[in-house]
Amino acid sequence: MAKEKKETGNVAGKTLLYFMPIAWRHYKGFFFCGAVNIILKAIQPFVSIMMTPLILDELLGGRNIQKLLTYVAVIAIGGTFLSLMASITDVIMEKYSEKMENFFTEKMSRRVMELDFQLTEDKKALDQIEKARTGMDWYSGGVYGISMQVFQMISNTLKIAGVILLIIMNAPALFAITAFLLLINTFINSRKNAIEIESFNRLSKLNRIFGYLGWDLVDFRYGKDIRLYDAKDMMVEKWNCYNQESLSNWKWQADRLLPLNAAGTVFDAVKDFCTYLYLGILVIMGKITIGTFSQMLTAGATLNSAMQGLIMNIQELIKRTNYAYEYVKFMGYPPAIKKGSRPVKDVPHTIEFKNVSFTYPNTDVKVLEDVNIIIHPGEHLSVVGLNGAGKTTFIKLLCRLYDTDKGEILLDGINIKEYDYSEYMGLFSPVFQDFNLLAFSVKDNIVLDRTCPEKDLHTLIEQVGLKDKMDTLEKGMDTMLFKFFDENGIEPSGGEQQKIAIARSLFKKAPVVILDEPTAALDPVAEYDIYRQFDTLVGEKTAVYISHRLSSCKFCDCIAVFSEGRIKEYGTHDELVLKPNGIYAEMFAAQAQYYH
Ligand code: ADP
Repeated sequence: MAKEKKETGNVAGKTLLYFMPIAWRHYKGFFFCGAVNIILKAIQPFVSIMMTPLILDELLGGRNIQKLLTYVAVIAIGGTFLSLMASITDVIMEKYSEKMENFFTEKMSRRVMELDFQLTEDKKALDQIEKARTGMDWYSGGVYGISMQVFQMISNTLKIAGVILLIIMNAPALFAITAFLLLINTFINSRKNAIEIESFNRLSKLNRIFGYLGWDLVDFRYGKDIRLYDAKDMMVEKWNCYNQESLSNWKWQADRLLPLNAAGTVFDAVKDFCTYLYLGILVIMGKITIGTFSQMLTAGATLNSAMQGLIMNIQELIKRTNYAYEYVKFMGYPPAIKKGSRPVKDVPHTIEFKNVSFTYPNTDVKVLEDVNIIIHPGEHLSVVGLNGAGKTTFIKLLCRLYDTDKGEILLDGINIKEYDYSEYMGLFSPVFQDFNLLAFSVKDNIVLDRTCPEKDLHTLIEQVGLKDKMDTLEKGMDTMLFKFFDENGIEPSGGEQQKIAIARSLFKKAPVVILDEPTAALDPVAEYDIYRQFDTLVGEKTAVYISHRLSSCKFCDCIAVFSEGRIKEYGTHDELVLKPNGIYAEMFAAQAQYYH
């Protein structure tokens, strides 16, 4: 708790130090405009503060028309010019607001996509993403919102310095009255801010849930299940339940803010009473003229509004930087897995699991236990076992989506944690069972951001059996998938999606390919055909095939049979099928009719 408090004190500084240098590097024009805006807004009120007493004293005294016209002209022309210029700079700065928001949103999206996979299942990390997103967009107003507070702070400080000088010269006690009541207001405002920040923290979890219920579930891909399982009422009920929680949070906030707002109004009235009383006495005593009386009233009001403005700016700045700090925290979110810097050598790779055990974070069931296996270069390994045996987990560890708890995984004799992460990831092209295609064109889904000669792409499309489908489409491989961006987008069948995913994995030209049951929706015979066809395309590369069926076993060099997190049997098809009471022999006997 104490640690958290200490951090809060530094938050404004840390946030400004993070954002301002980046914003300055990319948007210098914004800061130049800000500087002009500060000066214009600081001198704006002084036009009427200086001219009004001159007009009043002239009206009550000499009544010189020429002088009066000059004073009025200065107010009208000077005031209008300053406010016009200030408005122009305001508009220019607002244009920067959009650009800066997009810039920092893109930066965050990149970070989300680079985040260690393990964190995408971590509740704390997901909450942090939500806090960063809403903290940056809604609550802080982003870099624009924060910078505007800083600009206004400087502008208000200049105003205050000028007005205090005037007041001290004419009615010194007025300064004391205003300052004292402002201190009280500051206290009230800081209490209000603390309440609002606490409410924000309570709401961030709820916003993530609302995001899921209100946005993700509108995704038509959930539509079938929602209709067929009649889940609509459950969704609405959940929505209402969380809505209730959200409303009670807003009520909690409003109940606490009400007395503070009332107290603020009372103190304002007290301040007005004291000001008029004091200045009136000075006039009666002949210490100031009517002109100066009015000047002091305007100066007092300006001091009050500038001081309130300044305090509000400081509090707003603290509040907004606190919200935006969630973004800074997210950008520096600690990695979930260890990453090294060793380059991956361009040699045929040997992979070895040595006494590997693994338990998923925040759970206590050992999913893998003491797994030992060597995958030689170019070997085709089939990993089989019942659902839940740990096959996918084995692949996730190999692909560094998680780190092992115990034991080690070696690539060419060296622990995989020591390798440069992206070079290591470059070795694998897996197709996971829950692969997802993007709502872009077929071609984009296969090549992603790489380039590729059309001819090669056509060959690949033919190899994975997508040519016939592509020929029926008017735009061929440029046809969009799904209907997010294009109403003519296609909804590919499960089989077609698998073929596109397989084409993507082959296109990557990585030395190790992995098929993790992407065919689970197919019948055993169709699955066997796809695995066999894929195996031909894989050729000399290392390949790992996962299935709870035996689709790939007959043409693979080795078979590892997983059961309850362990490799219970290992060998070739011919060896395992003859093993008395063997798991594999039993599975094969049950499924033999599919694989002849
Ligand atoms: P298989 O691929 O053999 O069907 P998995 O490796 O997917 O098995 O799962 C093995 C066990 O690990 C299962 O009991 C599953 O519920 C559990 N498991 C899988 N993923 C996670 C996860 N992200 N968090 C916690 N437990 C998980």
